[in-house]
Amino acid sequence: KNALVWLRRDLRLFDHAALHHALASGATVYCAFIFDRAILDSLPAADRRVEFIHDTLAALAAELEALGGHLIVRHDGAESAIPALAAELDAATVFANHDYEPAAIARDEAVARALAGAGRRLRTFKDQVVFERDEVLTQGGNPFSVFTPYKNAWLRKLEADPSVLAPWSVEPGSAHQPGRFAPGQSVLPALADIGFARTNLHELGIGNGPQLFDEFLGRVADYGVARDYPAIKGPSYLSMHLRFGTVSIRHLVRTVMTMSARGAAGEGGAVWLSELIWREFYMQILYHNPHVVGGSFKPAYDKIEWESGPAAEQLFAAWCEGRTGYPLVDAAMLQLNRTGYMHNRLRMVTASFLCKDLGIDWRWGEAYFALHLNDFDLSANNGGWQWASSSGCDAQPYFRIFNPVTQSQKFDPEGKFIKRYLPQLAGLSAKEIHLPRNPIVEHDEARKRTLERYAVVKTT
Ligand code: FAD
Repeated sequence: KNALVWLRRDLRLFDHAALHHALASGATVYCAFIFDRAILDSLPAADRRVEFIHDTLAALAAELEALGGHLIVRHDGAESAIPALAAELDAATVFANHDYEPAAIARDEAVARALAGAGRRLRTFKDQVVFERDEVLTQGGNPFSVFTPYKNAWLRKLEADPSVLAPWSVEPGSAHQPGRFAPGQSVLPALADIGFARTNLHELGIGNGPQLFDEFLGRVADYGVARDYPAIKGPSYLSMHLRFGTVSIRHLVRTVMTMSARGAAGEGGAVWLSELIWREFYMQILYHNPHVVGGSFKPAYDKIEWESGPAAEQLFAAWCEGRTGYPLVDAAMLQLNRTGYMHNRLRMVTASFLCKDLGIDWRWGEAYFALHLNDFDLSANNGGWQWASSSGCDAQPYFRIFNPVTQSQKFDPEGKFIKRYLPQLAGLSAKEIHLPRNPIVEHDEARKRTLERYAVVKTT
């Protein structure tokens, strides 16, 4: 019998739940990736993420061939392509890993229905998180909407059953996974054939996920402090790999927890683990609250009247292009535009600046980040934006407004990060570099306007 493994945001051949189960079923296993027109058609012709996927698929195809298999790649609508491919290959079962985004859930339901209509089955598995959906709930059985109690419950659950971190091995032809990969020739369309041009991806050092992680482990102990300073190599830079599943979350969590238990991860190990838990926190928020797509988590915040019209559009364009006159904000936006990455501290500063200094709807910023971030993830991006606009779960109180100048003085004290992206400011002293130059808005006045704007949601 034949099985089809449908790869999506799990682009690796190790520790892979769907692959593991397909091989365990004893079937002859085909692997496929669909460049889904439903997603790709709305993207501009140069997109680092599409190129990253393309590169990753080329490597996967070679790895699969070394294991006696091959990779099938199509450029089509996934909803119809998967049932058609299953029919073509006579695959009784399609195996895939869970995706928690509303559009992906609807797509998977449609695929499952189409398969069922032809007497076939879609079987899906938890893979991209340690705990999903309803696995971590309050004592009253409800989803959490505040991070710290969620994190504590998450850690308790893991302590009670550490076996959830066990890898899903991929061993074709072994006693417990008797299945084998179907032999054949991989045919990967050229990037241009699916309508995309090359970008500067290869200059960015995004590299190989597992290697990047090993390198990060050498500095994880300092992460707690170093992660806040954009001029230094503090964070892991693994977000794009986590997004596309080129690393395994179980391996990451297991490794850091083992190091911590040995006292080898310093304080940074626990802080970094917390960030991985934030990732799952926002995924379960999205899963339980799909209204956050396009709407405020706290509906009262939808009463806020944002700036609109041509003046607001001009301010927005200045923010997008790094022309606000606030050096740290501008350098951060240039980092995003040129590399597709933005440091977490700067995501908070620029998001706050858009909502609370320019009075522009967080959804505009969310959409801009979604288009440009290499690691764009609906749940984390939406969570981050709603945190910054104070409309989210566990958000910062609306009256706490980041000051872009003091943030700059605190987190880029010598202006090293700013000068990297704004070399025209290289001659300025550490004192001068943070100050606004021809600002498009005065922070103190903007702050007052924001407090008035948010008065409609003033609660206790
Ligand atoms: P590290 O500091 O090394 O963290 C390790 C991993 O933990 C990250 O790769 C990520 O998977 C996860 N993580 C860290 N912080 C968060 C967080 N606050 N929320 C959820 N997961 C987190 N992260 C995305 O992955 N995709 C996004 O689209 C995204 N948009 C954001 C938008 C805004 C406005 C804000 C404030 C934050 C956003 N983040 C997003 C979270 C965070 O900024 C990035 O995950 C982080 O900067 C990625 O760099 P890193 O891999 O070096 O992170």
